[in-house]
Amino acid sequence: MKITDHIKEANGKTLFSFEIIPPKKGNSIQQLYDNIDPLMEFKPPFIDVTTSREEYVYIEKEGLLDRKITRMRPGTVGICAAIKHKYDVDTVPHVLCGGFTKEETEYVLVDCHYLGIQNVMALRGDAMSHQKYFTPNKDGNHYAKDLVKQIHNLNEGKYLHDVVETNNCSDFCIGVAGYPEKHLEAPSLQTDLKRLKEKVDAGANYVVTQMFFDNQKYFEFVEAAKKAGINVPIIPGIKPIAVKRHLQLLPQVFRIDIPEILIDEVEKCKTNKDVRQVGIEFAINQSKELLAAGVPVLHYYSMGKSDNIHAIASELF
Ligand code: FAD
Repeated sequence: MKITDHIKEANGKTLFSFEIIPPKKGNSIQQLYDNIDPLMEFKPPFIDVTTSREEYVYIEKEGLLDRKITRMRPGTVGICAAIKHKYDVDTVPHVLCGGFTKEETEYVLVDCHYLGIQNVMALRGDAMSHQKYFTPNKDGNHYAKDLVKQIHNLNEGKYLHDVVETNNCSDFCIGVAGYPEKHLEAPSLQTDLKRLKEKVDAGANYVVTQMFFDNQKYFEFVEAAKKAGINVPIIPGIKPIAVKRHLQLLPQVFRIDIPEILIDEVEKCKTNKDVRQVGIEFAINQSKELLAAGVPVLHYYSMGKSDNIHAIASELF
């Protein structure tokens, strides 16, 4: 079922969902199941599975370092299929521009369609760690908007090299990313909103936000998006702080602010167990306010560990 239909069917009731990261290659999918199992009691209608682009690894060979390109966390579509069938839940694979040609993207989408996956999240991806700026693959999509167009075309039977007349077209519901504190490369929030509108005009059906810790920023973003003519659901993404290092890491990577009150509480903590508890309590309060405001879904970034998400959801759902 499409995410937008889940939201309609909920009839104003806020849904619970979360995002997981595939394990590094060489690990078992059981690791994911162990994290998902406890969260299923909160009946998520969908689970997102991230995709990681390729990266460099350095291998020592006869005293020299050899650089190889590899994908450390492959398998998003396979994981989505496995979770969908094990738990009878919709899964949302993240599909990236970066690291993929349009041809490869088409194969991923065709596989999703065969596997009965009806939702995809269309994202540009980031620059590789050695690059200053994002560079698309030769023959790849540059911006998420271009990827949305490719998915939208496929929904109409338009493949890259031919048009297929069929009554078995894909009918993907397409999600895209939104940034209440603006994307780090955007010159202004207004320009970024214009870009978001372009993604929606290209066929995106809903938005999931980058994490934020100040609800006011989300509320203002939703208002500004409405004013800009964006009328699709905007799902807030929530990340509980889990370790002290997040105070530096999250603003550095995502260019987001952390409220003073949260910084103060985290700084008082003696152990990371205490930090985790502070993160849980803050996220519960943040979520309660969003719930009261009637957001369509509360979507949590689990980052591979679900005990804190479970503690939060237990208070809310
Ligand atoms: P875009 O919408 O393409 O925007 C990227 C930048 O380009 C923005 O600054 C925008 O303003 C600008 N822009 C857009 N169009 C134009 C144009 N025509 N001309 C000039 N500038 C333009 N990353 C992963 O690698 N894997 C994941 O699974 C993943 N999941 C995510 C899930 C969510 C909910 C979010 C919020 C982010 C996720 N990301 C993921 C991170 C994401 O890939 C990065 O934030 C990336 O830098 C931008 O992706 P985007 O889809 O927002 O890009």
